[in-house]
Amino acid sequence: MDISVKRLTPSASHEIGGHACRQDPEDLGNVSSMKGSIRISEIFGPTVQGEGPLIGRPTVFVRTGGCDYRCRWCDTLYAVLPEFREDWALMTPAAILTEVERLSGSTPVLVSLSGGNPAIQPLAPLIEQGNKKGHTFALETQGSVPQSWFAALDWLMLSPKPPSSGMDTDWQALDECVRAAAGGPHCALKVVVFDEDDYAYARLVARRYTDVPIYLQVGNPAPLVTHAGPGHVEADIAALMQRFRWLVDKVAADRWFQATALPQLHVLAWGNRRGV
Ligand code: SF4
Repeated sequence: MDISVKRLTPSASHEIGGHACRQDPEDLGNVSSMKGSIRISEIFGPTVQGEGPLIGRPTVFVRTGGCDYRCRWCDTLYAVLPEFREDWALMTPAAILTEVERLSGSTPVLVSLSGGNPAIQPLAPLIEQGNKKGHTFALETQGSVPQSWFAALDWLMLSPKPPSSGMDTDWQALDECVRAAAGGPHCALKVVVFDEDDYAYARLVARRYTDVPIYLQVGNPAPLVTHAGPGHVEADIAALMQRFRWLVDKVAADRWFQATALPQLHVLAWGNRRGV
């Protein structure tokens, strides 16, 4: 039975002085001292990727636990906040792949590495061992922690957080993430857009990384979060679609034809549910 219910209000997002607070990943799941094990919040699928350039693609999700950010509207706080650590499992790469293959029926599959911030986990051995079994890997991160092993991915989705998140962008770290993907994985940018300030931020990101395709994702107001994850509040699809139309109008008016505007497909299909 769930006894912990949190609404993602500013207080729950650990704001200080009106800004969400950057956290120390060493305290939140950086497992450099854990002998190669990886903090796992959940593994689920097969389902479809609901966001970005792989939207609609069948995938198994491997969600890691721990994040150095505290975005105001984070919809996966159960994979972020230390009070949920008891729900996270320390798993070896082999154990993770065993679970992936149980779910995929031993068929090679696209593995989506998500979080939390998966970039603070030691994922290189998992990717290497998974590749040998025919799996492909996509990773999404806010771009705050560059890793040389990004080059071993098939897809790197960088999702720098806009002003509505309450987080500040470390542009140097983001530059290094883009460089780490050079010559390796397909790289794409994804920016969540709630309002005009977020849209202006997305334009700024696009101007800085002109060679990287950019996806604009309609902001989804934060749902309830429990130990079972979001799922106790239906998504307001009409409001999401209204915001999507606003976003498309903005892109069209600006003749910004390089951008791709998308809603979250899994939210349209299942609402704010965990494990889909
Ligand atoms: S970076 Fe992602 S996982 Fe971390 S707090 Fe922000 S939205 Fe949540």
